[in-house]
Amino acid sequence: MPTGKVYLVGAGPGDPGLLTLRGKALLQRAEVVVYDYLANPRLLHFVPKDAELIYAGKKGGGLHAYTQEGINRLLVDRAKAGKMVVRLKGGDPFIFGRGGEEIEELAAEGIAFEAVPGVTSASAAATCTGIPITHREYTASVAFITGHEDPDKPASKLDWDKLATGVGTLVIYMGIKNLPDIMQRLIAAGRAPETPVAVVRWASTPQQESVIGTLANISDLVHEAGIKPPALVIAGEVVQARGRINWFEKRPLFGRRIVVTRTREQASALVDQLEELGADCLECPTIAVRELADCAVLDAALDKLADFDWLLFTSPNGVTHFFRRLRAAGQDSRALAGLRIAAVGAATAEALIPFGLKADFLPEKFTGEALAEALIAQGFVQGQRFLLPQALKAGKVLPEKLKAAGGEVCIAPVYETVPATESGERLRVALQAGEVDLLTFTSSSTVRNCLDLLACENTAALKQLLGKARIAVIGSVTAKTLEDCGLAADIMPESQTILELVRAIVRCFADEAGQRGLQK
Ligand code: SAH
Repeated sequence: MPTGKVYLVGAGPGDPGLLTLRGKALLQRAEVVVYDYLANPRLLHFVPKDAELIYAGKKGGGLHAYTQEGINRLLVDRAKAGKMVVRLKGGDPFIFGRGGEEIEELAAEGIAFEAVPGVTSASAAATCTGIPITHREYTASVAFITGHEDPDKPASKLDWDKLATGVGTLVIYMGIKNLPDIMQRLIAAGRAPETPVAVVRWASTPQQESVIGTLANISDLVHEAGIKPPALVIAGEVVQARGRINWFEKRPLFGRRIVVTRTREQASALVDQLEELGADCLECPTIAVRELADCAVLDAALDKLADFDWLLFTSPNGVTHFFRRLRAAGQDSRALAGLRIAAVGAATAEALIPFGLKADFLPEKFTGEALAEALIAQGFVQGQRFLLPQALKAGKVLPEKLKAAGGEVCIAPVYETVPATESGERLRVALQAGEVDLLTFTSSSTVRNCLDLLACENTAALKQLLGKARIAVIGSVTAKTLEDCGLAADIMPESQTILELVRAIVRCFADEAGQRGLQK
């Protein structure tokens, strides 16, 4: 069997968007991935489903899933078994990453390897706290230093005395435990006690925290703020520039924990927009969409599409699943040439585009009821035949209104939504810990399933569990379902789109921050 190859890949500092393109391409064809505590698990979404994923651990404080020798052995064994192995390491593999040691072992065993650099956490911590790591006004040199060594160890490789005054910016990795000693040491060696210092935890992620002080007081401030590893220390005059360029933590939703309850497939549009604004999203899908095994009504309709005048879509899922059946029947979009197409809303109309189709009709308000009324108002219903591919249990208002106005409606179930339960516990724990700022609901079924997952005895218990968490909904129907469950929506955009929902969320938190500012 030919020997495999090992790729040592830098995962970047935490934000999945800071992985290199080369790193992503390698993950996409990995057969084995050995990953660290500091590598964002979201990067594993790029890995093929059948790949072997091995958590190699290494969390400061002794929680090691594997020893370094164990990891080396693992890489060698999998490569010898002919596998394409990605060794995914936080930041850059060669900056305090023991990448050198792993590669030496591979070389000694005659195993082919490559290394891919990554954005090191020093660079991310500086950039995401608005600190230019070098700056012509302040400094022309930087040192990356490990703070893991005991500063008083006799055989230390570090010459703190020279570092203290010989280098402009000092970036200390793994320095939280020894912070008081290191700061003392720098002051004793002649660095001014008032030298500004930043400590940054989980840099580049929505959980980023930063504390700013001086060599003299940062240890106390870090202790008070409860900052734990992984965090970096940046000491030097450059830290002064932060006030002017601290962009990351000033984004409108920074530090807000927002729960997204949509299906995993649909969540990304909302999650991407919220994260872009700095939110920390907790994806808790409360529904899953499943193909319907029995689509007999639709299949029969597909055989005689010429009998219909209109094709109505009430959700992007309806679109996707309709075309799945159309393909299965050996047909494509050309089969719809004689039909007019109506979509309930912008997202549904957009779902038609990949199939080369444009909706002929879109109501102003994006509800089934509004669609029916708009079609009726235009005189499009009397004597017309409608094909309505939709969810197994869908609202009845649309078909009933059309029928009442003299239309003929063929309801063709193509998919069903089922409760997704796997994230119930995670959501409960987050709510109990008071970590949730906002829950978002985009349909009645997300409301019902979510409340079922939380399994509270009564409304009072539910309200207590929700605590300070606000609720945002899309659509008056969803708001009504929430009301029926004894809760009220705090946020409901006028227009039923994800973009408007996100805007309304931003406005709500901005108002709240403004009010807090006034109270101070
Ligand atoms: N190879 C990594 C460093 C590994 S050493 C890199 O290039 O970034 C582990 C230390 O890195 C942690 O103790 C912490 O000091 C720092 N670190 C890693 N990721 C970090 C992050 N997102 N925020 C702050 N510090 C981080």
